[in-house]
Amino acid sequence: MAKEDYKGIWVFAEQEHGVIEPTVFELLGKAQDLQAHNKEEIVAVLMGNDVDALAPELIARGANKVIVVNDPALAEYSARPYQAALTQLVEKYKPSILLYGATPLGRDLAPRLMITLDTGLTADAIDLGYDEDDVFYQTTPAYGGKILAHIVILEKRPQMATVHCKMFAPLEADPARTGEIVKETVQVEADPDYQVVEFVPDENVEVNIAASDVIVAGGRGIKSEDDLKKLQELADLFGGQVGVSRPLVDNGWMPHSRQIGQSGVTVTPRLMLNLAVSGSVQYTLGMQKAGCIVAVNTSADAPIFDFAHYGIVGDYKQFVPALIEELKNRKA
Ligand SMILES: Cc1cc2nc3c(=O)[nH]c(=O)nc-3n(C[C@H](O)[C@H](O)[C@H](O)COP(=O)(O)OP(=O)(O)OC[C@H]3O[C@@H](n4cnc5c(N)ncnc54)[C@H](O)[C@@H]3O)c2cc1C
Repeated sequence: MAKEDYKGIWVFAEQEHGVIEPTVFELLGKAQDLQAHNKEEIVAVLMGNDVDALAPELIARGANKVIVVNDPALAEYSARPYQAALTQLVEKYKPSILLYGATPLGRDLAPRLMITLDTGLTADAIDLGYDEDDVFYQTTPAYGGKILAHIVILEKRPQMATVHCKMFAPLEADPARTGEIVKETVQVEADPDYQVVEFVPDENVEVNIAASDVIVAGGRGIKSEDDLKKLQELADLFGGQVGVSRPLVDNGWMPHSRQIGQSGVTVTPRLMLNLAVSGSVQYTLGMQKAGCIVAVNTSADAPIFDFAHYGIVGDYKQFVPALIEELKNRKA
């Protein structure tokens, strides 16, 4: 089949326990831009068991069509049944583009589809678009973040990508939007090798920094755990949370749930205070859409200053106590 015969912008509508993963809405939002260019239908693919009630929300968020598959073997995410089900749908409908959130589930499922469909996959894209030759590209950091690569999948279809969370704005839910809901059946069986025995919430995720309006983030330049406590004091005065760059997670000072960046959490607070963070691509990917970005760094050449709305060349050890005192005075 010629690649021109593949039509449709598909978004894998990841859901768990009846809750749609927010990245799905972001992808449906971005799909509007792609549709303005290629004029193809936006389709959300919803799989699970007894998930029909979620379909209208996908239409309200921008899908023209929702393909719903209910099957007991798909009730909980399991790699092989999901791989088989989605492969069957793609082989039947032949979309030109298939997008997944770069969530743990999306990162697990997409490479499996790449194998069964014998097509291309870009991992962790941060942007999507069409170039001057009308070719669909996916942008992703490469060579340790030193360059941003435009990846194209020239011959194989569908063109697939996992897409980093919080890269695109979701559409406001509009219940007046109309669309088609198509019920599909697939031939799948539960994987005999795996069984979900129990769900236990991750107790390490004591806070969700992504929900915070103010984040005080510390980097490798923070010299001690005592200094990190000062950052917490500052965050408390703002009613915010402490986040960190990866080195502070690697050295065991903070749990991974506090890590900002490509392999951590993406945050969009109103105020993002970066203390002793250099501003690597992997870090800034996770915070560059914050409302107001402030950076404090002893090195005037630190890349973080390229992102900061306000920059202070100086030592956090002087800046943090001074700001704490100022905030306390104002609150008094
Ligand atoms: C595949 C991959 C994924 C990655 N994912 C992530 C990720 O999700 N998140 C992440 O953070 N990193 C990630 N990294 C690591 C990333 O490349 C950087 O190594 C990391 O972000 C550096 O953290 P940093 O800025 O805290 O440390 P550094 O780069 O060492 O910067 C420390 C900064 O502190 C400043 N400083 C020192 N002392 C003071 C002081 N007293 N006062 C003020 N400033 C001071 C220094 O001038 C320097 O700029 C990833 C790397 C790879 C390869």
